[in-house]
Amino acid sequence: MTGIEPPGTTGIELPDEIVEFRQQALEFIRKNVHPFEQRVAESGVLDRDEYESLRRHAEEEIPLPDGYGHTGEADGPEVSMVVHVAIEEIAGHVTNGLYVVPRARGRNVFGGIASEFQRQKYVVPTLRGEMRHAWAITEPGSAGSDVKAISATAVRDGEAWRLNGEKWFVTGGDRAAYFLVLVWAAGEQALFIVDRDAPGLEIVRRPQFMHDPHPSGHVELRLQDCPVPDENRVPAGEGGTRRWISVERLMIAARCCGAAERLIDETTQFVKERTSFGRTLIEHQGVEFPLADSVTELLAARLLTYHAAEACDSHPDPKIIHGKIAIAKLYASEMANRVADRCLQLYGGRGYMNENVANRYFRELRVDRIWEGTSEIQRSIIGRGLAKRGRVPYTALLPNDV
Ligand SMILES: Cc1cc2nc3c(=O)[nH]c(=O)nc-3n(C[C@H](O)[C@H](O)[C@H](O)COP(=O)(O)OP(=O)(O)OC[C@H]3O[C@@H](n4cnc5c(N)ncnc54)[C@H](O)[C@@H]3O)c2cc1C
Repeated sequence: MTGIEPPGTTGIELPDEIVEFRQQALEFIRKNVHPFEQRVAESGVLDRDEYESLRRHAEEEIPLPDGYGHTGEADGPEVSMVVHVAIEEIAGHVTNGLYVVPRARGRNVFGGIASEFQRQKYVVPTLRGEMRHAWAITEPGSAGSDVKAISATAVRDGEAWRLNGEKWFVTGGDRAAYFLVLVWAAGEQALFIVDRDAPGLEIVRRPQFMHDPHPSGHVELRLQDCPVPDENRVPAGEGGTRRWISVERLMIAARCCGAAERLIDETTQFVKERTSFGRTLIEHQGVEFPLADSVTELLAARLLTYHAAEACDSHPDPKIIHGKIAIAKLYASEMANRVADRCLQLYGGRGYMNENVANRYFRELRVDRIWEGTSEIQRSIIGRGLAKRGRVPYTALLPNDV
């Protein structure tokens, strides 16, 4: 059983109800989601009805405790980032995007920048699970890592705006009721809420990706003279996007830690049971060492991730927080990929089967080094911070650290 160390060991404390939630969620996942996940992997088909019923079952069995953003009323800053990370880590125990653990924080980010009208019309129904949304930032042109390079535009047309552009990799776009689309509007970058059925909005393609069948596709969108009312322009625009990306990065780090936990647990079980040359695999040093490295790196990644989460909750300087999140995302995503590679190897030929858990993670975790800022971009953020502010704000752990 995975668990936060008792208070005092790391200094990280969690409310009792979140400790309990994590345990219950993990039990639910092992009992209900892992078998479903295995069926999807073996058949190559995701039964949509079964998935939706699993989600409903999860909402009933493992609701987030009151006050943690589940109701749509209590979302917001009172839920610490440490708590969000602790919840998200559990979601990492699942492959194929079958995150049935309720996740309130991603929604909070949009909730935090929306106008009151947008909050009532879009955010609250989203929080209640009645609507889904998708973020449309990346484009087929130069705008991926370089968000400033977007070419999509919004031009004033009386009381409304007309949007034009193409967006790629829109995760959840095939199920979204509305899109958050980043464009240039009147000389600055701005986010617009675009309804799924808006005239001129078209899903052009649903490409296939490395992972198994997934509840959400990553679609390509086209907007052609798409009319959007002014009230759908999100007030905080670019600032909101930046904050969303930062929080998403931290959540990726958390999920990577959860993924590595499961990989190590399942692979350890396997190598304790399988034998070669008259002994169990784990008794061979060549098998024991990669697992030992994996455990060591996992602990380092967890410490970095919780450290960055604590910085979000208490550090006064957003630039330092941004740097600490980059460190956590870089390390945790690369760690999880190394762990998946080692575990696949330890499964031998079984690891090459698509249905094998290490194989699935090996394919699936690859994206964590790419999306929400590639590893190279994280290194640039860390390097630029070092050049501007020196090492100490990023590595200080002790009072008056040097
Ligand atoms: C499965 C999946 C889901 C996604 N979901 C979404 C989504 O929901 N919404 C959305 O808007 N986007 C989404 N994305 C897009 C994702 O955020 C981008 O793919 C990512 O930011 C990288 O951009 P890019 O693909 O254009 O690569 P590029 O920016 O073209 O980079 C290509 C390579 O060049 C390197 N590189 C670029 N600039 C530098 C530099 N300055 N220094 C060093 N190296 C550099 C990169 O690290 C990378 O290795 C998704 C992508 C995937 C694969």
